[in-house]
Amino acid sequence: MIKVLTIAGSDSCGGAGIQADLKTFSALGTYGMSVITAVTAQNTRGVFNVRELDQEIIRDQISAIFEDIQVDAVKIGMVSSAAIIETIGESLLKNKAQNIVVDPVMVSKSGCALLQPEAREALIRVLLPLAEVVTPNLFEAEVITETKIATLDEMEKAAVAINKLGAKNVVVKGGHLKGDAIDVLYSEKAFRHFGSGRVATPHTHGTGCTFSSAIAASLAKGCPVEEAVARAKEYIGGAIAHSFPLGRGVGPTHHFY
Ligand code: PLP
Repeated sequence: MIKVLTIAGSDSCGGAGIQADLKTFSALGTYGMSVITAVTAQNTRGVFNVRELDQEIIRDQISAIFEDIQVDAVKIGMVSSAAIIETIGESLLKNKAQNIVVDPVMVSKSGCALLQPEAREALIRVLLPLAEVVTPNLFEAEVITETKIATLDEMEKAAVAINKLGAKNVVVKGGHLKGDAIDVLYSEKAFRHFGSGRVATPHTHGTGCTFSSAIAASLAKGCPVEEAVARAKEYIGGAIAHSFPLGRGVGPTHHFY
């Protein structure tokens, strides 16, 4: 059995966060495990409250898993604060975690901060050097590189800059580009573009979580990075094509169809 761990926040309506990650791991035939960093009170219309867990219980969740189980890949999502980032970094180094995918979650689609602005520095210093793959969207890449990004050329420059900060492979996601959603992968000093037509749906809650989890599941199975990203792109395309109106707001992607 291939075993994949997500370290992320809980989304009570099940579309994003830990819940999206576990559904993705299952749909891709792997066994999912979770370390919860924060609990959000959330539905398809917004995030109404966020409660971080303390560092001790986050550290103990990670230790409990690694002491007993061989983990084939780790996805890191919502980490909320600098203190939580430090705890995760220490624990993953101590346990020699491999195949780490970092989704540098900052703000929900509904506009709620999921990373404290002062945690940016810790994310760059602690998490990027641990990342086999990092998957910023345009906004996150702008915050990390402190540059404006609106074109493919600027996405490539940002990917190189984020690689220089320590992330081995970088996918700058183009979901927020005008026109087609083209993702830029920078890997081993080469670029590859992954294009897809845009699916006309408002129901895109949890797309980032799903994409990074799909990369982690493929890395866990032993896929090279480029193939893992290509497969994840295909997976998220299907999950968005089958997304649905769960409540009265932005519905989630679908994993089992
Ligand atoms: N809630 C949690 C706990 C998350 O981890 C994330 C995404 O990473 C979100 C919400 C945001 O989901 P979206 O921006 O797709 O609505």
